Amino acid sequence: MHQLLPRDLRDAIRTIPDYPKPGVMFRDITTLLGDAGAFRRAVDELVHPYAGGKADKVAGIEARGFILGGAVAHQLSAGFVPIRKKGKLPHKTVRVSYLLEYGEDEIEMHADALVKGERVILVDDLIATGGTALAAVKLLRQIGAEVIAACFVIDLPELRGADKLRDAGLEVRTLMSFE
Ligand code: AMP
Repeated sequence: MHQLLPRDLRDAIRTIPDYPKPGVMFRDITTLLGDAGAFRRAVDELVHPYAGGKADKVAGIEARGFILGGAVAHQLSAGFVPIRKKGKLPHKTVRVSYLLEYGEDEIEMHADALVKGERVILVDDLIATGGTALAAVKLLRQIGAEVIAACFVIDLPELRGADKLRDAGLEVRTLMSFE
């Protein structure tokens, strides 16, 4: 695990108890994004192992993964691929469904967003159960991309999502964890 983090970057995360429902501690990254130094530092820390052309594309998961993933892609001079909730993308898509706590959801990506063999880094703000990220990896692998790493600012290790991704053969990079 990569707990590289200086105290101040951790302090840039705001915690909102009982949002969006009772019992959830919502880890809000908007305060980090709004702090120029913290935003730059988080992006730099996420990407430095992958500098030097190791990735062709960065895939970001809607919606906070778009903000971080766009910055990461720019930093690595890589292309950006949005992975969205179903029904939002205008062209032909590939789609995967995954289980939520109650029910099911689907994410999708443009079918021509990647070509077979391209090296991709997956980015989101936070990994909890890993359900969303695992579905995204499935989608990327389905069209023949090589997922070289999955990067998150925040890990909730009790929910074991990062372990599940590692079990699926992925390198996982996280900057901090909250119990
Ligand atoms: P999961 O699929 O369980 O790993 O959930 C990850 C997704 O849900 C990410 O896109 C997160 O942005 C969001 N998420 C889950 N739990 C939290 C939390 N405690 N605080 C903020 N976002 C969360």
